[in-house]
Amino acid sequence: MYKNILRHPGPTPIPKKVELAMGQDMFSHRSEEFVKLYRETTERVKPVFGTKQEILLLPSGGTAALEAAVVNAVSPGEEVVVVTVGAFGDYFVSICEKYGLKVHKLEKNWGEACTKEELADFLKPLSNIKAVFATYNETSTGILNPVDQLAEAVREHSEAIFIVDGVSALGGAPAEMDEWGIDILVTGSQKAMMLPPGLSFVAVSDKAWKQIEENAPTAYYLNLLSYRDWAEKGMTPNTPAVSLIVGLSAVCDLIEEEGGIAKTVERHELMKNMVRASMKALSIDLLTNDEFASPTITAIRTPKGLNLADYLGHLKKEYHLDFAGGLGHLQGEIFRFGHMGYCFPSDVLEAVSLMEAGLQDFSYSFESGAGVKAAQDVYLASLKKKSVVS
Ligand code: PLP
Repeated sequence: MYKNILRHPGPTPIPKKVELAMGQDMFSHRSEEFVKLYRETTERVKPVFGTKQEILLLPSGGTAALEAAVVNAVSPGEEVVVVTVGAFGDYFVSICEKYGLKVHKLEKNWGEACTKEELADFLKPLSNIKAVFATYNETSTGILNPVDQLAEAVREHSEAIFIVDGVSALGGAPAEMDEWGIDILVTGSQKAMMLPPGLSFVAVSDKAWKQIEENAPTAYYLNLLSYRDWAEKGMTPNTPAVSLIVGLSAVCDLIEEEGGIAKTVERHELMKNMVRASMKALSIDLLTNDEFASPTITAIRTPKGLNLADYLGHLKKEYHLDFAGGLGHLQGEIFRFGHMGYCFPSDVLEAVSLMEAGLQDFSYSFESGAGVKAAQDVYLASLKKKSVVS
């Protein structure tokens, strides 16, 4: 028997409270009980998005919600801009191209963010752009794009709506959809939202609703107008992921217990700083610089002299510590340390300590305990700041 230490960018560990909540007896999605659950839960999850708009719940992975954003907001043949800084930006490009859109791709090197100035310069010569797409947290590289500033660039240099993939961000990164001017914000359940895969979330601004109405989408299952109509009745057009919505209600309890989403985001920021400090103390390179580093996932380069597949395999086999490898051309070059959702400073200390054990097994030269100490120092400093310890 052993405990698998899942430090992936999703699916992520599920809190016991959420698991137990989801185990309750099934009930009808056309019952009063469901309507009450749906109305209350979609209201309580709004702070995670930073919006007053309705949060639509789709019984799907994040990809379907991204596709829903695309097929509702624009029509084949229209022009869009996709900002891509990694594998999931490229994913957005593929969704748009398959749908027959004319895609203008603003591509950055993997490991870099897109800045407001870069997007502004890209948009200036373009006209007729119907939508600009960007990934908030690029899961393949651990980059958090400054979507608040990208939204400004979109507003200042186009009439387009701004659509953001928040799949590995929401629940761990700050989000102020209304204030920042994001028009469609999408996320999924299995990452920082602490749920199993199978539920996705879409929030739509007034400007985007107008565009969707004018666009008159032909989609059936992914038709957001239909989701909006049914949401008014506290229901969904088709059978929803009832158990996951029950689980979502328990997730809202946990976030509220922590003191609200701002506190949850603060914990993610702390874990990011702990991981980054520990890798630096172990002389292990990070893929990204600190400025745009993700609060939910850190991409770490192979410790010098080690074979990455051997090291990750050893950590999994001997210590049951499970990291995700690199994607695309970063496969074999980086691994990804997930610190999102149901993950705490104690989990970071555990993972760094086991990483060190693995490094010793491979005779990597480092000062034993240096990574753990660096992470611990960041943790203690945060407690001192809060006057928890003197
Ligand atoms: N977008 C991002 C940023 C992701 O990290 C992922 C999944 O890892 C997706 C989209 C796709 O979501 P799903 O696998 O739930 O369809």
